[in-house]
Amino acid sequence: CGIVGAVGATECSPFLLSGLKVLEYRGYDSAGLAVLDGAGVLVRARAKGRVADLETRVIEKNVVGNVGIAHTRWATHGVPAERNAHPHISAGLAVVHNGIIENYEALREQLQGLGYEFTSDTDTETIAHLIQACFKGEIGEPAESLFSAVQCAVAYLKGAFALAVISEEEPDCLVVAREGSPLMLGVAENGHYAASDASALLSVTQQMMYLENGDVAQLTRESITLVDALGQPAQREVVTSHLTA
Ligand code: GLU
Repeated sequence: CGIVGAVGATECSPFLLSGLKVLEYRGYDSAGLAVLDGAGVLVRARAKGRVADLETRVIEKNVVGNVGIAHTRWATHGVPAERNAHPHISAGLAVVHNGIIENYEALREQLQGLGYEFTSDTDTETIAHLIQACFKGEIGEPAESLFSAVQCAVAYLKGAFALAVISEEEPDCLVVAREGSPLMLGVAENGHYAASDASALLSVTQQMMYLENGDVAQLTRESITLVDALGQPAQREVVTSHLTA
């Protein structure tokens, strides 16, 4: 139901948790967060129930890193349960997703045929394995980067989505995409941010970049690289939000 992501100069869990709390009003049944730690290793915490419960787990598991993604879930596919909470992982690659993937059953069968094992009942886990399969070249051409793997994967997805993706293969990078569900970027001095709602970005910046349908963007601490629905390099205007935190 809500997404937050960060790639910055500072430890991102406090920002991700505060963003999730801002999004709480939209309703949710579970929450989760994953970061790439100082050694570039993916660490995840998830909890059914409140963001405050997730926060306890984040502290217990020492989920600390400068690159991360987080999610509040409003279940559409699979009951509210920790195993169905996002982020979903495929071998070192983690995904959060708002929306519904209409063709997830056919994709899941195809991915199971390639040997991918599913640990949840969600449509979202399909996206994690699909991006991994694109990254490895098991579907489509071998990808040069996480950015190109996500571009490959979204071409197979039918439905509505806003996505944020991180991977141990590229520990300085956050990739996002949207089709039908809202997603915007936050531009700040010390890093780049993403959220499904501008209000979740206000604790770090007023400078927003609204993504258009079909956009896929790669965020690093220093740069934003974006392609549009046709896969062409594109730029989106940075606007100053007049919302107050
Ligand atoms: N369809 C996904 C799920 O059920 C995402 C739901 C959401 O937008 O929170 O896990």
